[in-house]
Amino acid sequence: MARVALVTGGTRGIGAAISKALSAAGYSVAANYAGNDEAAALFTAETGIATYKWSVGDYDACVAGIARVEADLGPVDVLVNNAGITRDGMFHKMTKEKWDAVINTNLNGLFHMTNPVWAGMRERKFGRVINISSVNGQKGQAGQSNYSSAKAGDLGFTKALAQEGARAGITVNAVCPGYIGTEMVRAIDADVLNKHILPQIPVGRLGEPEEIARCVLFLASDNAGFINGSTISANGGQFFS
Ligand code: NDP
Repeated sequence: MARVALVTGGTRGIGAAISKALSAAGYSVAANYAGNDEAAALFTAETGIATYKWSVGDYDACVAGIARVEADLGPVDVLVNNAGITRDGMFHKMTKEKWDAVINTNLNGLFHMTNPVWAGMRERKFGRVINISSVNGQKGQAGQSNYSSAKAGDLGFTKALAQEGARAGITVNAVCPGYIGTEMVRAIDADVLNKHILPQIPVGRLGEPEEIARCVLFLASDNAGFINGSTISANGGQFFS
């Protein structure tokens, strides 16, 4: 039986590359998304991968959404917590609304999604939870106090849960991408990207979503069974942790 993988934010950007890589490797994949029906429809037309719409920021919606996925595909073996948003602003202009939106999606979302699958993974004595954090959670980034806080929190969550899941056959790891050429990064002002961001990246280019997907594929595989509580930094040499 194919293992079942659920990828949050799995229809666009890095998540789409992860969904495709897992599907190509033989997993039965469910790609969750929040609201962009057009992108989700295009993604399914292109890949044949089933999509499921709910917000990872809403606990009850996660419980109901996961139940739908499990009814369709079977119990979730691999959970990739990839969904994320940015609402940037220097701290003196940071609003509570922006703060709450980012913490709720990027940090609370990990609880909302992992909590409902955890008991099943423990019972079946197998699970892989892979959290997509960020280089900006590792090093902090001006203008992203909300995002850096949430992404650093994702790493704490990863390390704590790795200890709890180990004896039940569950590994929990994180991937910290550097700047990857998705819509999230293309939304950054071109001047800022060329003058301030690219010069910080020793390999001299943005990463590709597929380069993150390959890290996730490895962490999901049986080859990674002894890797638990780890962080893979995939950032072109921008930051060493
Ligand atoms: P994109 O903006 O390209 O795609 C985001 C995906 O997440 C979409 O599928 C979107 O759904 C979904 N999503 C957003 N909010 C929610 C929500 N509340 N519930 C469910 N799904 C949601 O993002 P990226 O591919 O660039 O980023 C993916 C992850 O990687 C994020 O966690 C991001 O923080 C992280 N990351 C990205 C970096 C980069 O350079 N791009 C660098 C470091 C980390 P919909 O299509 O419906 O909007």
